[in-house]
Amino acid sequence: MLRIGLSGGIGAGKSTVSKTFGELGGIVVDGDVIAREVVEPGTEGLAKLVEAFGEDILRPDGALDRPALAAVAFSDDAKRATLNGIVHPLVGRRRQELIDAAPADAVIVEDIPLLVESQMAPMFPLVIIVHADEDLRVSRLIEHRGFTEADARARIAAQATVEQRRAVADVWLDNSGPAEDLVAAARALWHDRIVPFAHNVQAGEPARVAPVLVPADSSWPEQATRIVNRLNTSCGHRALRIDHVGSTAVPGLDAKDVIDVQVTVESLDVADELGSALAAAGYPRVESIVADVAHTDESALWQKRFHASADPGRPTNVHLRVEGWPNQRFALLFRDWLRAEPDVRGEYLELKKRIADAGHLTSGDYADAKEPWFADAYGRAVDWAERTGWTA
Ligand code: ADP
Repeated sequence: MLRIGLSGGIGAGKSTVSKTFGELGGIVVDGDVIAREVVEPGTEGLAKLVEAFGEDILRPDGALDRPALAAVAFSDDAKRATLNGIVHPLVGRRRQELIDAAPADAVIVEDIPLLVESQMAPMFPLVIIVHADEDLRVSRLIEHRGFTEADARARIAAQATVEQRRAVADVWLDNSGPAEDLVAAARALWHDRIVPFAHNVQAGEPARVAPVLVPADSSWPEQATRIVNRLNTSCGHRALRIDHVGSTAVPGLDAKDVIDVQVTVESLDVADELGSALAAAGYPRVESIVADVAHTDESALWQKRFHASADPGRPTNVHLRVEGWPNQRFALLFRDWLRAEPDVRGEYLELKKRIADAGHLTSGDYADAKEPWFADAYGRAVDWAERTGWTA
């Protein structure tokens, strides 16, 4: 099962995207629809609202009078909290029921208007944001959904900002053109990324990608932050710290387009306990990799667990290492040493280019060819740490 979080500001065009995904076989769980369902006549939700806010929130036919409810419930913060306290748990329960009823190989598309505001983004292996500029959204809301300009602008102003949405978006779908273009982009995304991602998650396999050396990408740190947030949510207190490591964590350094992240744990047993949560978050384990190349005599202290992203659109390696072991410290030290020392950065880049030119294409060969340099670099990095007083 792959759960996708779909969001965007009001009027951005989420409905077009969720409809397209629904037609392609996704199971759409729509937050707005559920929020209406849980307060239909005869529901526990409506009974609780009447108990809290009185009979005046009902229409003569017994259905909820939304404007009347809004008038009382939004009049002060305590009442708003009461309303949310009634509706949110019911929505959450219903959402979970729909998810539990879906087949194991399903793609669940959760259409959540306030995904960003409710800080739910890290709960999803993939977050898709639909975007159009404010003026365009306002004109569409006026033309198609009967809003006044003032209403539309007030609703937009009350929601998250474009920057906040960008920060959580694994995929940014621009809807400034005709609706057909959005549909075409959503269909391509479905076939090229979502279907293989879901297949890999189901099979417990990482995506097969062979990244090549590319120029440094200034968005790597932001992308890594999203991954770190997601891993934090999956690992909870069992992760002692989670860090962006590797070449993509060194600004200005050309690298393979693979984000490396280190999850520091108390023991390998804890790493093993995290296995299924990481797989569910989109990072299945690679069982064949159980250690780094040892640069000290204590090779047992270079063991690790290794997971990699099932998403073909965002190659990511997740290294679970034990706090204080030399491999855990070296991942942090090596990054900081490269960040601090331009000459070493240049040397490392030369090495990477030489290997790429020599045609060592598989990751295994690539890692092997780097080892002689690393063996030497380990000692130099440790010296640098001592000289500078570096701490992890
Ligand atoms: P959301 O669900 O994100 O709040 P909607 O999908 O309802 O937004 O889109 C707002 C309105 O704009 C809808 O009536 C929709 O039909 C219309 N719309 C969406 N995309 C386009 C587009 N590319 N061109 C013109 N109208 C659009």
